[in-house]
Amino acid sequence: MSAPEDRPGTPVGGLPLRPELLGQVPYGAPQLDVAHRLNVNENPYPPPAAMVADVATAVAQVATGLNRYPDRDATALRGELASYVARDVPAAAPWVDAAHVWAANGSNEVVLQLLQAFGGPGRTALSFAPTYSMYPDYCRDTFTGYATLPRREDFTIDLDAALAHVRDRRPDVLLVASPNNPTGTALGLDEVDALCRASAGMVVVDEAYAEFRRPGTPSAIELLDEHPRLVVTRTMSKAFALAGARLGYLVAGSAVVDAVQLVRLPYHLSAVTQAVARTALRHADALLAGVAALRAERDALVVWLREQPGLAAADSDANFVLFGRFADRDAIWARLLDHGVLVRATGPAGWLRVSAGTPEEMAAFRTALRASIEPGDVRA
Ligand SMILES: *Cc1c(COP(=O)(O)O)cnc(C)c1O
Repeated sequence: MSAPEDRPGTPVGGLPLRPELLGQVPYGAPQLDVAHRLNVNENPYPPPAAMVADVATAVAQVATGLNRYPDRDATALRGELASYVARDVPAAAPWVDAAHVWAANGSNEVVLQLLQAFGGPGRTALSFAPTYSMYPDYCRDTFTGYATLPRREDFTIDLDAALAHVRDRRPDVLLVASPNNPTGTALGLDEVDALCRASAGMVVVDEAYAEFRRPGTPSAIELLDEHPRLVVTRTMSKAFALAGARLGYLVAGSAVVDAVQLVRLPYHLSAVTQAVARTALRHADALLAGVAALRAERDALVVWLREQPGLAAADSDANFVLFGRFADRDAIWARLLDHGVLVRATGPAGWLRVSAGTPEEMAAFRTALRASIEPGDVRA
């Protein structure tokens, strides 16, 4: 990867790479073998034993048919995801069914498919920074322009500036994470509604962390029946403790589901993935009990961080907390690692992001952070 002499348009390693890929590095949150991994917002609770047993049975069953391609449309899974959505967002219950749900390998693939269908050369997507680091990559990979507007000091979006930009510049896709990664900030329904009304393009609300939202924080799914160009994406990677299985989905009008089917690869979602996801949905109650525990850890973590001299922590509706500000966040990151705690140096300068973990992991994090901060490390 080290080829400092590479200039745009010159081959890398003898390969005629697309010029916009020259000098880029792959997505790479460190996967280090340390005691407490609190850096990629995984669910720290492994799937319960009863679910593991059911997954094994379900996979054995589909294994007998693996000579055949899977159900291309994942119809049974989509129906079961719809039932889950109806339960999580009762306002959607009257209309949500398989025709309003689409599933793929992680919500990363879902958003990529949305940009394949609704972005493209000459088109642009707009987001609000700081936000998810993959958005510019999806845009690059679909030849879609990418622009951001800055979030305010408290990480909320400046709605007036956003509406003015949308009316003026008419982006083809709005891409908004809510709760946002890495800040934890959720959008209000009034904000989603205003963005949908102002926009002539698609409005994608990335709700990867939806299940972690605090009481009273709504889901944009509530607005889907009013806005045909609104799409809400979700994932089983976080709340369902299923990051390793790769299952994301969207909820939207059925025309959106028809549109992404134009760009999906044939048989994109393996029979094994479909079976594992369906099994996990049957264990939703046990899995969501873990989510409630993580929400409580998250809230306690925000309170504790704010009690530390000089430290600030952002309000969070997700399973992580952004905290700071440090004169040298990389130094704090390295000291935490020396204490066996891996967090993420991401977001605005001076801030670090820590995932909510088990009570034991949170205790280890608090001890490590106390030991890592020296006078002068925290900026006013
Ligand atoms: C973790 C995360 C996702 C989930 O990605 P998957 O592909 O479903 O694992 C999507 N969006 C954001 C903002 C995330 O932080």
